[in-house]
Amino acid sequence: MNLKKCGICDEEKDNGIFIYHMYICEACEKKIVTTDVDNKEYQLFVEKLKGINQTYTI
Ligand SMILES: [Zn+2]
Repeated sequence: MNLKKCGICDEEKDNGIFIYHMYICEACEKKIVTTDVDNKEYQLFVEKLKGINQTYTI
């Protein structure tokens, strides 16, 4: 098990994915893919991603 800190919920989880160099736990990933674009949580995610999106383009 290798705990990593999720960039969205700031919790340490052992299963998740990397989007560029930000780790996103499984729960947050599911939340993101099922969340409507107009949803505030989605906007929050986009804001977080912007922070790591200075050298990459989605
Ligand atoms: Zn998370």
